[in-house]
Amino acid sequence: MIYADNAATTRMSETAIETMTSVMRNEWGNPSSLYSRGQTAKEIIEKAREDIAAVIGAEPREIYFTSGGSEADNQAIISAAELGRKKGKMHIISSAFEHHAVLHTLNKLEKEGFEITLLDVHENGVIVASEVEQAIRDDTCLVTIMYANNEIGTIQPIREIGEICRRKGVLFHTDAVQAMAHIPVNVALDNIDMLSSSAHKYHGPKGVGFLYAKKNIVLTNVIEGGAQERGKRAGTENVAGIAAMAAALKEGIDRMPENAAHMTAMRDRLIAGLREIPHSALNGCSRRRLPGNVNFCFEGIEGESLLLLLDDKGIEASSGSACTSGSLDPSHVLLAIGRVHDVAHGSLRLSIGEDITEEEVDYIISSVKEVVEYLRGFSPIWRDLMQGKREFIL
Ligand SMILES: *Cc1c(COP(=O)(O)O)cnc(C)c1O
Repeated sequence: MIYADNAATTRMSETAIETMTSVMRNEWGNPSSLYSRGQTAKEIIEKAREDIAAVIGAEPREIYFTSGGSEADNQAIISAAELGRKKGKMHIISSAFEHHAVLHTLNKLEKEGFEITLLDVHENGVIVASEVEQAIRDDTCLVTIMYANNEIGTIQPIREIGEICRRKGVLFHTDAVQAMAHIPVNVALDNIDMLSSSAHKYHGPKGVGFLYAKKNIVLTNVIEGGAQERGKRAGTENVAGIAAMAAALKEGIDRMPENAAHMTAMRDRLIAGLREIPHSALNGCSRRRLPGNVNFCFEGIEGESLLLLLDDKGIEASSGSACTSGSLDPSHVLLAIGRVHDVAHGSLRLSIGEDITEEEVDYIISSVKEVVEYLRGFSPIWRDLMQGKREFIL
């Protein structure tokens, strides 16, 4: 099998598995216990906190461990909203193609009286920083814009947006789940106040992540209970998961230069090959793009059938995001970049891994070409297009 769905989740690295099993086997104490078994577990967590802080340009006390990216997004946004509410600032700026962990949290706040502005992400899937500045008002309490999109891989001008927010005195949160360990991320250089990260997107375990929040920010609890995480996130810590996350992140960042160079070359080879398919289009900017992301639309095709036939050929890919599969609605990300419903339905996301080879890329290209041609052979939409009863969009 060729696994090309790394944006959904990644395989754990050997380093992460070894770290995790070793902690589970040997250091199973409760970090809140006062005897040495507990204190050893606590030391493991604090070492992970230091390591993570160091690689993203933060201080250890600015890192809060969570159950993953979704929880970090929820807590960051709810915290900023609560701080805003106290000052009578109830306006939040975000974008139309954020992850549902962000969009659904914003929907909830809207019902509580917050006003939400969703910025246009344009045809290339890149937000214009000056449009963030224009949208900021006296009552804006938060700007939340993702670092890189999970479906189309486009990278946002985070440093510029952060600089604008800092100058205007507005909190800035970024969902960096797709960016972390794949492109350079530094909260100090990028002017970020809050950031979400998830271990399973960089070869760490599922169910663990972290929220970075600048030290002057008072977080609101989303999980109430004990005093773990300086009283901001209750629940006995996932010690093994946290240790494995730190190990995976360090390894990912150490290897980033060579991995990114290889993946970028493989990505561009894949894009060039798929562009040869008639009436197809790359979704999102080809340059401001994660090294591992390829996302195409093919006219006259159903994304789901494409995935099933590719699976038969040993290729694991996705259409839209995992959260939207199972529903008939096309991806909100593709609609946000202006793809019409019919075209958005025929999408394919290939998120390649670090170890992909040139032969595998070429096999993916020939397989997609074959499957697209086959499916178009009995697609009523394709027949109408060919007979001129319907206009080509791509
Ligand atoms: C995967 C993902 C999340 C959710 O992270 P979990 O750890 O699975 O909760 C949030 N945002 C983006 C951009 C993602 O890709």
